[in-house]
Amino acid sequence: MTDWYEAGQRHVWLPYTQMQTARAPLEVISATGTRLRLADGRELIDGVSSWWSTVHGYRHPHIERAVKRQLETLPHVMLGGLAHEQAYVLARRLAEMLPGDLEHVFFSDSGSVAVEVAMKMAAQYWVNRGRRRMKFLCFRGGYHGDTFATMSVCDPDEGMHSLFKGALLEQLVVDLPRNPEDEAALGRLLERHASDLAGIVIEPLVQGAGGMVFHDPFTLQALRRLADEHDLLLIFDEIFVGLGRLGDAMFACEIAGVDPDIVTLSKALTGGTLPLAATVASKRIYEGFLSDKAQSALMHGPTYMGNALGCAAANASLDLFASEPRLAQARAISEQLLRQLAPAKSLPGVVDVRVRGAIGVIQLDRAAPAEELSAACIAQGIWLRPFRDILYTTPPLVSGEDDVRAIADAMVSAVREWSIRSFS
Ligand SMILES: *Cc1c(COP(=O)(O)O)cnc(C)c1O
Repeated sequence: MTDWYEAGQRHVWLPYTQMQTARAPLEVISATGTRLRLADGRELIDGVSSWWSTVHGYRHPHIERAVKRQLETLPHVMLGGLAHEQAYVLARRLAEMLPGDLEHVFFSDSGSVAVEVAMKMAAQYWVNRGRRRMKFLCFRGGYHGDTFATMSVCDPDEGMHSLFKGALLEQLVVDLPRNPEDEAALGRLLERHASDLAGIVIEPLVQGAGGMVFHDPFTLQALRRLADEHDLLLIFDEIFVGLGRLGDAMFACEIAGVDPDIVTLSKALTGGTLPLAATVASKRIYEGFLSDKAQSALMHGPTYMGNALGCAAANASLDLFASEPRLAQARAISEQLLRQLAPAKSLPGVVDVRVRGAIGVIQLDRAAPAEELSAACIAQGIWLRPFRDILYTTPPLVSGEDDVRAIADAMVSAVREWSIRSFS
């Protein structure tokens, strides 16, 4: 154990962790490409991409150079009243990449805050038009962050957020509409509730932290139709799926052929280098804040919004998406996971094996024995972090065939060992 670890251990409060019983975290001393290097000399392939962020692998030289260069000129400056090149370039590039007229970028420092800003934008858009519509339609299985407003649009019955019931904003929570009958039923519900609603909040195509559940473009197209019919704003939280994870396009909204009114981005935005997030609004939403009245302005402004180092990293990350075949790599990972996770399907206790883009999931018939599965994967040189009833991987998009094979093999064999122990 290193000195810093021993001395700091009792002071660091870890995320989603029962500190009394949790196994001690692994000591990481450096990382390169797809690999984490531990203090004891071991190397692990990061099958999680540090919570879905390190799409280009760790320490990509192009991002590293960009951040170093920025550090030597301007690491940070407040965005209130002052401008800097990296934020302006990044905003223009995001506007160009996103479909439709999603072209007004509000920067923040984390995904949860980006969603808070999206919710505030939607609610105030209506206030500025003289209407009080403060609630949101959201979905079972959804996850949008850990702050109070974002918790309120997460699945209300699942784990960490159920504790705060009553203290949270009250939202309209429904199942995802998956077919025309669902769409019609939701339409009838909206007839009664739409006048209270500011908008609809959804993770497009994949609900991530709620359990890696997939849906079809139909769902998003139906929500666009319902939003238009009932005058609701459609918010796509692309913090997980945006920026290449799904392989077919940079953003889920493009894959679905749906133009949302507001999009949130974070996680992979800086390639896992620095914290940064963006809330991007369409022209109509932005113009709803233009007025002679000061109080019609969007009243939000995180201290570190548009941090110059973060924006430099994000610009370098977008360069890499343009110059290296990330989407093709995501598609190749997808095909490989589909083949190599398939053997898990027949194991007792496995209820589903599914793959969408560079996301591979083995779902069990019960809460996953997280410590046991994680330890079995670590023993095979793979870092994974199971949750709820799933063992999943979201590898860096630069992962080679050997890396992906090693991850898939570790997942299947960890689940096989568990299955044999539990069912024989
Ligand atoms: C991770 C995540 C968030 C929250 O982002 P943080 O940076 O952890 O606050 C919000 N929405 C989705 C879809 C996410 O995956």
